[in-house]
Amino acid sequence: MKNIGLFGGTFDPIHNGHLHIARAFADEIGLDMVVFLPAGDPYHKEQATKTPAKHRFTMAEMAIADEPRFAVSDCDMVREGATYTFDTVQIFRQQFPAARLWWLLGSDSLMQLHTWHKWQTLVRQVNFAVAMREGATLNQVPRELHAWLGDGLQNGSVKILQAPLYDVSSTQIRQVIRSGKDADSLLPQPVARYIRNQGLYR
Ligand code: ATP
Repeated sequence: MKNIGLFGGTFDPIHNGHLHIARAFADEIGLDMVVFLPAGDPYHKEQATKTPAKHRFTMAEMAIADEPRFAVSDCDMVREGATYTFDTVQIFRQQFPAARLWWLLGSDSLMQLHTWHKWQTLVRQVNFAVAMREGATLNQVPRELHAWLGDGLQNGSVKILQAPLYDVSSTQIRQVIRSGKDADSLLPQPVARYIRNQGLYR
């Protein structure tokens, strides 16, 4: 059976931490493919402004160009209105009816899972691969998620990444660049170059 990883994010910008966890999950779970899914542009004007999806998508494509197991999809960019993970998973389920699907996420995102659209149905349709992040340990998981997480860890539908933490965030990178320094050591080379050429985050 094929194992497919779905990796949603803002990717503003995509960084070495994203690639690190995607590679580590692919190795540990035996994922045949990891699909990066950059979030679309906000459909509410009052939502925090972020870099246009076009740039975030291009950077993601550059970052994964040398990784045969990785792909980028605009699936979450092209839908009208709010984009729910629930709907994304239905789309990939239809496309790969026989595959085992894994949603990749950091432990900070896991803490919000009980606020996601139709989360209780979602968790029955997709497995979860969780990468631990600084400041978001499993004993801080909200009460609503306790039973599901306990069961999932036991029956294998939730896996915690074994590879060590890679402590970097897009927020940190945007701050470093805004302060006039370069963040090249935290970014895939072509992404660092693209950010410079396009004048992003200054
Ligand atoms: P921001 O700082 O803008 O919030 P981010 O670095 O968290 O960005 P996102 O695009 O929001 O990046 O992340 C997509 C997914 O990857 C989320 O589930 C997030 O938890 C996870 N993630 C991002 N960076 C790491 C990291 N260094 N280690 C583990 N998980 C990470």
